[in-house]
Amino acid sequence: MKNIKTSYRMLDPDNCAMCGMCLNHCPTYKINNNESESPRGRISIIHGLNNSLLEPSESALKHINSCTLCMACETNCPANVDFYKLMTEARNKYFTEQKISFKFKTILVSLILTKKYIKKIIVLIISILNKKSLEKINKKLFKFMNYTQIQNTYTNLHGESQGSVGIFTGCASSIFQNEVANSCINILKKNNINSEVIKNIECCGSLDYNSGRIKEGIKHNNAAMKEFRKDKYQKIIGYASGCSTFINKNKKNTEYQDATSYVLEILSKNKKKYNFKIKNKNICVHMPCTTKSAEIDFSKLIEVLNKIPGLKVFTFTDNYCCGAGAQNLIHNNKNSKNIIKPKIEFIKTNKIEFVLTYNIGCSLNFINSINLDNIKKVHVMHPITFLDENLV
Ligand code: SF4
Ligand code: SF4
Repeated sequence: MKNIKTSYRMLDPDNCAMCGMCLNHCPTYKINNNESESPRGRISIIHGLNNSLLEPSESALKHINSCTLCMACETNCPANVDFYKLMTEARNKYFTEQKISFKFKTILVSLILTKKYIKKIIVLIISILNKKSLEKINKKLFKFMNYTQIQNTYTNLHGESQGSVGIFTGCASSIFQNEVANSCINILKKNNINSEVIKNIECCGSLDYNSGRIKEGIKHNNAAMKEFRKDKYQKIIGYASGCSTFINKNKKNTEYQDATSYVLEILSKNKKKYNFKIKNKNICVHMPCTTKSAEIDFSKLIEVLNKIPGLKVFTFTDNYCCGAGAQNLIHNNKNSKNIIKPKIEFIKTNKIEFVLTYNIGCSLNFINSINLDNIKKVHVMHPITFLDENLV
């Protein structure tokens, strides 16, 4: 028998064997059907850039920027390529070569979401514009309001609460999802656990780190870890699975757990029978791509929701990332909209009334797409708030 030598083109240092087994798991490859928008294509581009075979031009860097960091490729890679490290290092290395508008937007978003005084102004603007009567004006003039659901009121944080469980709100969540922190406090209180919102944290660091500003990301992370003091809190919980993923990688001996995971644990441990207000609703539970790395037991969440009488619980049929990750919502909005499309169709077909998701980026992507599609009476909620509002 002839001895056939297989030769793979090894791309040191990432060990990619170019097998292509990751391709069909990649959301950007799925919508574009273009090798450069696949994990393998991106690895080749990074290899080309690092070895001066390619210029860090706009056309090369756009494929590095469009990756949502969903890590579906890493999960399905037989060669264990550390895709997260590869991508974040490439983004960092070539950040200065990015288009001015890209750099400007990245830094602006970071300032808006992390600087307290700017955040206060944004919150004030949102609370003024968040009125049913201003819906038409918002659609024309203030398009960013598409990322909010009309509530007519703005939810402030429960200021008075104190306890040994510290709640980390996350940067974007502290603008768009304060109600989840309040829900954590309520649910824990019902289970005899006192908790409080941790003040003085700007961000967990993932926002900057994942968008190519590693130094700034580490700075935010170090500052956050200082506030996660063991002498003050027995446990820290955070309710955005994207933050939990990053904190799990960089938690430096702090006692951190994702809030959804913690609340589910508390509810399952407690033997008392829960009663729920909600009846006869169609809900769809989204599984963010950060579920595994945030250590959230998705099946436990479905199990708890299935116990609610009269509730029809759906999960999305496509398991791709929603398309929001790693600032794609800001830099590649078209991609985000196209990636989430099958999920939006699913919502329409199955007459879904509540979409539950535990990551802020996914939540904003759903809200924006639902608003743009003019789908009425669909509420996007964090599962912790859904449980809090419906537990009697
Ligand atoms: S992280 Fe996700 S979007 Fe990026 S290349 Fe891998 S599968 Fe594709
Ligand atoms: S599955 Fe892994 S080894 Fe194969 S092409 Fe994708 S990144 Fe490379």
